[in-house]
Formats: sequence, C-alpha cells, structure tokens
Amino acid sequence: MFSNTDKFLKDFQTIVNIDSSSDHLPGIEQVALFFQKRFSDIGFTAEILFQGDAKVPCLQAIFGPGNSPGGGHGPVYDLMFLGHMDTVFPFGEVEKRRFSIQGDKALGPGVCDMKGGLLVVLHVLETLKKEGVLDKMSVCVAFNGDEETGSKASKGWIQSIAGKSRRVFVFEPCRPGYKMVSQRKGGGWFHVSVTGKEAHAGADPDKGINAVVELANQIIAIDRLNDPDTGTSAQVTVVAGGDKVNIIPNKAVASVDVRIERLEEKQRVETFFNTLCERTVLPGSKILVEGKIDRPPMEITPESQALLDVIFLEGKKMGIDVSSIATGGCSDGNFTSALGTPTIDGMGLVGANSHRQDEYVELASIPIMVNLISNVCKALI
Ligand SMILES: [Zn+2]
Repeated sequence: MFSNTDKFLKDFQTIVNIDSSSDHLPGIEQVALFFQKRFSDIGFTAEILFQGDAKVPCLQAIFGPGNSPGGGHGPVYDLMFLGHMDTVFPFGEVEKRRFSIQGDKALGPGVCDMKGGLLVVLHVLETLKKEGVLDKMSVCVAFNGDEETGSKASKGWIQSIAGKSRRVFVFEPCRPGYKMVSQRKGGGWFHVSVTGKEAHAGADPDKGINAVVELANQIIAIDRLNDPDTGTSAQVTVVAGGDKVNIIPNKAVASVDVRIERLEEKQRVETFFNTLCERTVLPGSKILVEGKIDRPPMEITPESQALLDVIFLEGKKMGIDVSSIATGGCSDGNFTSALGTPTIDGMGLVGANSHRQDEYVELASIPIMVNLISNVCKALI
C-alpha cells in the first residue's frame, strides 16, 4: 500500500516547477528525464523518443517481457499508461506561480492537467514493484509532449502502443467527487468559403452575387446538423464577409466547430460538408469547404464498461464512491479508444480548472488515487 504522500509532494514540486509549455521542448525533455530515471530505477526500459519533424520529446518506459497469447499475435502489454508532459502555460509561468500548497489543495502550472496524473502513474508502479506485483505484469508507459497542441507528432506512436495493449488508462484529471471519464466527444473543424460577384449595391444590384447572403443560407443549413439525440453539435463560431457598405460582397467565410459522440456521425457530417458545393442557393455562387473530423469519439463499449465495473468495485472496497462521466473535450484517449482498445480516462488526481490560473488538485486524492489504481491493477492481473 502507498502511504508516502510526502515523497509524492516532493516529486510534485520538482516537476511542476519545470516550465513545459508545448512549445518549450527543453522543459518537456527535462520532465521526461526525471521520469526516465525513476522508471529505470524500478527495472523499466525507459527511453526518450523524439517524435516527428519537430522532435517532440516523448517518454516510453516498458516493463515485462510481454505475453502475447497465440505466439506473437494479439496484445503485448496488459496495460498502457498514457499521459502528457506538456502544459498550456507559456515559458516563464513557473516563475510567476511556483508549486504551492494552500489548505487542502496543491497549486501551480499543470498541477491538475496533468503533472499530478503522471506522478500517479509513477507511484502506482513503484508501489506495485515494491509489493512484487509488477513482476507479474507487462506494462508500457507513454508520456507525450504535444497533447495540448493536438498530438500531431506523437499520435502514430501512441496508436502503435495502444494497438499492442489490452487496455489503456489515461491520467488526465479525475473530476471532483471521484468521477472518471468513460466517454469523450470527437470532432473537427470546417471552414466554408463562398465566392460571389462584386457589384455596386445601389446602381447594379442585379449584376452582383451576394456571398454573404449565400453564406447566411448555408449557415442555417449547417445549424440543422445539431442533433441532441445523437450528441452531435455543429456550431458556426466565426463569420466574415463584406468590405464596404455600398458594395455587394464577393467573399464570405465561416468556421464551424463540430463535435460527435458516435463514430457513425462522422460520415453524416463529412458528407454534408463535402456536398455543400452542390447545394448553393444563389445562382452563380461557389462554395469551397476545407476540414474534416480528425478526432474520433471515445465511446463506451462493453469492454470499457467491464473495466469501469472493476474500478468501481475496487473504489467501493476502499469506501470511495467512484463513478464516470461523459465530456465534450478530447484527449489522447480518443485515439486509443478508436482502435478498439478499452480506454478509461480521468485516472489522475482529483482536480479542476484546467488551463486556468486557479487550477488545483485535492491533496486528499493523492493516496486514494495511487492506492485505487494499484488495487485495480492487482484485480486485473
Ligand atoms: Zn491534459
């Protein structure tokens, strides 16, 4: 059983006080070096991989030989532990507000999203090592350095490990009240450009094609994509068009934020946008659409529900009422879940206000989460 919260807090101070903004690669590498050493100390093969053209530091730590039933096919790892080392806060943020403890909370840049979660992974695995349980497991830890900017460089690497894993635990923050995340919406952005024809608004209105009017018609059609029953939303968030009050505009553009709960909605939404150019309202106007749904939804499956049941039961044994929620935001769990690997997210420390100055975690959740996840691992192997 884990009980050394002081050691956890010392580690917490160390890594929160390293600026690791997504665009500050030396800081991300410094965080990776901290974990590389600690995972190596308990027998992991830990290395820092530099992903993509941007050479984003990512930590990969592997333990155990891997036990692939059926001679080389099928999963290699019992568990993938997934997290990100980057934060949304710019270089210099640490100097302004270093790691601190105030009352029953810990504060500092990335304390909740998600340096606390990274330390839950480390302390769970250190605890399991000490108890001799780790030696029966095969585990892959993957901490990337570009989650906050969409995991462009690390996505392929994450998916390749998830494809070799029986299950994935993602250590984004746990919601207050011990609510984990079992569903996340997927989504993407679309940009709609309309071309019309310029003309004098007063003298020659019949010679013009009003791009703003065409776009306005299309915006109404886009708005009808919203469907609360399927959990799909399509919000027109940015609109621009026209230049001078007496000129019929020949250009108008709109940007649309789309979120989906179900994978089959991807087809419906993408088909809608890809055929928009065939449904112009004003003769002579032209529509060009760019964009796609590039983040699949993290859906609840019978396999992920079974995993949740194990987690809820282990929580109950500890006297903690663990539950799960669905959320609109995306994480790397969206990518692993889309491969069909059962994925549970929100397994980090309990906290709130991510991406804000008043971000915090509840200190009481440190021993609870480390012991809960350790117990879940023991129940699974
Ligand atoms: Zn995060």
